[in-house]
Amino acid sequence: MWVGLDDTDSREGGCTTYVGFLLSHVAGEFLVQFPRLVRLNPNISYKTRGNGAISIQFSRKGSSPFRIGKFDGKWIMSNARNDGEDSFIDELRAPAENIIEKHYAKDQENTNPALVFCMERPPESLYRNALQREIDLEESMEYARYHSSFFRTWGIGRGIIGSLASIAWRPGRRTYELISYSYPHGDRVSDRDKQIIGEICESREETFNSMDSQKHIALFPRERTPVIYGIRSTSYDVLLEIQSRIAEIYPQYDMNFIIYETNQGTDDHIIHDPDSMEESGSYSVQGTVVGMPSRGIGGHLSIPFSTTCVNTNLMAFEPSKEFRNVLENLRPGDILRAYGSMGKGNIKLEKIDLMGVSEIYRRIPPICGVCGGKTMNLGRNVYECMECSHRSNPTYSREERNIHMGKYEPPVNARRHLSMPWKLEGYF
Ligand code: ATP
Repeated sequence: MWVGLDDTDSREGGCTTYVGFLLSHVAGEFLVQFPRLVRLNPNISYKTRGNGAISIQFSRKGSSPFRIGKFDGKWIMSNARNDGEDSFIDELRAPAENIIEKHYAKDQENTNPALVFCMERPPESLYRNALQREIDLEESMEYARYHSSFFRTWGIGRGIIGSLASIAWRPGRRTYELISYSYPHGDRVSDRDKQIIGEICESREETFNSMDSQKHIALFPRERTPVIYGIRSTSYDVLLEIQSRIAEIYPQYDMNFIIYETNQGTDDHIIHDPDSMEESGSYSVQGTVVGMPSRGIGGHLSIPFSTTCVNTNLMAFEPSKEFRNVLENLRPGDILRAYGSMGKGNIKLEKIDLMGVSEIYRRIPPICGVCGGKTMNLGRNVYECMECSHRSNPTYSREERNIHMGKYEPPVNARRHLSMPWKLEGYF
């Protein structure tokens, strides 16, 4: 049996993953595998932060228990195997409703929680659509009415969209995130302690998006939520090892944590080489730079770009910082694969693979070979001396390019949750 939940938090506080953590604890003995943190369309206007929704599988017939987290210092166990399906909504419904009731951000127009129980998983297309499109609320309500065993919504109930899409996710590509909590607000961690924890994470090859090249640590939330830190990895064993190393120095951060299975860092939202591109969809397309990069108001960078199906601009915004400095060196004729989402007809860049750097030649007007005078351009590659009218041709020198073929991406803090860091390329 699957439970989905979403949209419990607001910018002022809370966190849907914390609600999922509490539910995992309360119904611990029935858990199957990991609870799942599923990121959906990053271009949705209603999202609070990262458009994440939670789904958890429960069974009365689970077996082969293993460790996935701790609650108040005691292990939360899950079942690696599910030996049969049956419905036990009556036991889970009240605890799940009570947790949401207690923890959702009330009186916030933009917080519209939902809780749904399904015996059958919705088709995968429901997940795929929620990555690409803006889903109509009524469409999801209708699905829940006909196919769920039970659902409840608060406010206008927009969370039903994410709840169902999260259950519909089949993890082809998957990663893991260990999230450590302190309720109601994650502890303030000093810069020195952040550095130490960051370095423990970076010491393992399997982690990603922990620290950028400038040594900025990206594990700690910028806003005040119950999250102390979140560590991302391709391996959950490694996350447990890292957590036990952190616990030796900071036992207080080892009291409440859980490992989520996620679609973060998988590029699941990207459609490669589409026939056409729609607003708010995310794509990878190959094309050619057709104009000079220019900076706009607020520091964003815009680069004219053409593919076989569209003439557009690649956009890199201010938070992508030094990524823009690299892109500023692109020149007409450069060939690249761009990854990003369509917004207002432009591609908002997530990363690029620069596959061809054009050779640029600068024309040098000749000095007259007869009298040494200055020459003027007559067109058609012919110059004439302004003193003696002798005609000659210009020479060309190749410009030094300040960019090389290769893969480029923004610093860790400016990456989208779903975006696959180049580090993970080839992993899946
Ligand atoms: P956090 O990351 O802190 O959990 P959030 O960024 O996930 O917050 P939510 O509070 O969950 O933001 O709000 C996102 C809302 O958008 C939810 O109600 C969700 O159901 C809805 N939603 C998600 N994907 C889509 C989609 N493709 N189309 C329309 N609505 C969507």
